[in-house]
Formats: sequence, structure tokens, C-alpha cells
Amino acid sequence: MADLRFDDRVVVVTGAGAGLGRAYALLFASRGAKVVVNDLGGGRHGDGSSSKAADGVVEEIRRNGGTAVADYNSVVDGEKIIKTAVDNFGRVDVLINNAGILRDKSFAKISDADWDLVHAVHLKGSFKTTQAAFPIFKRQGYGRIIMTSSNSGLYGNFGQANYSAAKMGLVGLASTVAIEGARSNVYCNVIVPTAASRLTEDILPPELYTELKPELIAPVVAYLCHESCQENGSVIESAAGWAGKCTVVRSNGSLLRTKITDGVSIEAVRDKWEKITDLSKVERVNTIQEATGALMASLEGLRSNQ
Ligand code: NAD
Repeated sequence: MADLRFDDRVVVVTGAGAGLGRAYALLFASRGAKVVVNDLGGGRHGDGSSSKAADGVVEEIRRNGGTAVADYNSVVDGEKIIKTAVDNFGRVDVLINNAGILRDKSFAKISDADWDLVHAVHLKGSFKTTQAAFPIFKRQGYGRIIMTSSNSGLYGNFGQANYSAAKMGLVGLASTVAIEGARSNVYCNVIVPTAASRLTEDILPPELYTELKPELIAPVVAYLCHESCQENGSVIESAAGWAGKCTVVRSNGSLLRTKITDGVSIEAVRDKWEKITDLSKVERVNTIQEATGALMASLEGLRSNQ
């Protein structure tokens, strides 16, 4: 089988001056893509800015014989980053929303600024870049978008309520963008990475840290963005040379009344709680239509008990 190439494709990677974004940018460039290396070059908590981070990765790509241009805008000004791609390379094909910061505090201590800045970079930033690229992708009948979520969003993590909320928001954003782009071959998926970087150097246990190379996740992201990959609207977790798909499952649940004319009592909920929460048998819910379909079926069941 031939190598998967990205020749003549233009790839925008936000936050590509370090960590995961750098690994993505280097891999795409090594496979022929022209890369926009975006990075604000600020601190881990969203403070300051510098052109150093993006410039360093652009130099690295050029040294390896690749093509790249630096962009120093904040993702909050996402349209400017997409403009950099179009101005320099005439098109844009792939958008990796990767830029990120942390402002960890226990929930009670989160300030408005801690909440707003984390949401601005992760959620608003991904919205802005994606909204700028989306019409271009639709017009050309091809586009691939990655949102970056986190286990903190999926499962929660002490001290990261602001970050968890933003990261789970990205799953919702991706789910709907995937639906709206599907007919135009514009696909949107979510990566849930765990990797050694400045965001995780004091979070991950040291024995794990050295094993969790961003380069082991980059091929998963690159595959999701290749025109031959038909995955859309999925959440893919990846770390340490492993990848798997996460999805929403639902218990079979329980009817809480016997006739359509009955109400639901608190006691009926208590009495059925074990069945409501029994995940020993689950169904996968892929679409809102499937979720509504199950609802209609249970209403039908109640009506037939009349
Ligand atoms: P990193 O700090 O090494 O890289 C993030 C980059 O984003 C930095 O270079 C930073 O300058 C840049 N950035 C920050 N704010 C920006 C802005 N407003 N505009 C443009 N660039 C900006 O961290 P990383 O671990 O490589 O994280 C990459 C992404 O992966 C983040 O979204 C992070 O939340 C997510 N993530 C990482 C892990 C992990 O284990 N490393 C786990 C879950 C999620």
C-alpha cells in the first residue's frame, strides 16, 4: 500500500510551536503538506506572547526540506490564521484545533478570568478558526477538522473544572460541525490525547511522562485528516502508541409508569433506580434520531397499555 501523502494540501495547526502541535506540524510537512504553524508563543497560563515558538518549528520544517509559514495570532482571532493560509498558499484543507492553556484551580477558587480565558482559547478559539475555514472547505468539497478534547472533559479531573467544561464543549461543537459538513466531504473528529508536554510535566507521573511522546499520537491525527479516511463525528483517544474510539452508551433504562395517562412519582424513580442505572447491558446511541427513536418506542409501549 502506498504511503498516505498530503502533497498540495494546506494544513493549519494551531498551537504548533510546541508539544503535540509541533509533532503534528512536523509529520504533515514530512508527508508533503504546506503547513501554517500557528502559535501565540505565550505562557502556559495564557500570559504574554512571542514569535519564537512558531518560528522555531517553521525553521525545523524548512531544515527538513518542508514548506511552512509562521502565524502568531491568538486562536481567538481565528479568521486571521485561516487568512494566513490562504494568503500564503492559496487554499486550506485541514485544520487542527490544538492550541491550549491551563488555569487549574479547585472549583471553589476559579475566578471569572480563569473561566473566561480557558474558554476563550479552547472553545471560542476552535469556533473562530473552524467558522473561518468551514465555507472554504464546503466550497472545495473537502476539508478535515480536528478538535482537541481531554480525558479531563470526558471523565472530570480535580482542579480542572474550567478546562473540563471547555474540553467537553469541544465534543459538542465537533458533533454538530460533523453533521453540517458531512454532505460536502467536510469531516470533523475529536482527538483525546495524553502526551508529555509543558501542560502535563507536573501532572503526569514521571515514569509515564517519558513514554508519552507526542510523535506517537501525530499519526492518528494525520490519518483522520487524510482524504481517504471516512471517519466523521468521532472521539478518538490516543496515547503511547495506542488509539481507541469513545462513544456514548445508554442503559436499557426503565419505564417509570404503566399507562400514558399516569404520572411519574418520585418513589417510582427510586424503585426503578437500579434498572435505570444498570450498565451491564447498554446500547450505543449514535445520533439524535436514534435517541428520539427510543423515546417514541417507549411512548408507543405506554399507549398500547391503555
Ligand atoms: P503545549 O503547551 O506544549 O502546547 C500548546 C501550544 O498552544 C503552546 O505552544 C502555546 O503557546 C499555544 N497557545 C496557547 N494559547 C494560544 C492561543 N491563544 N493562540 C495560539 N496558540 C496558543 O501543550 P500540549 O500538551 O501540546 O497541548 C496541545 C493540546 O492538547 C491542548 O489543547 C491541550 O489542552 C490538549 N491536551 C493535551 C494533553 C496532554 O496530555 N498533553 C491531554 C489532553 C489534552
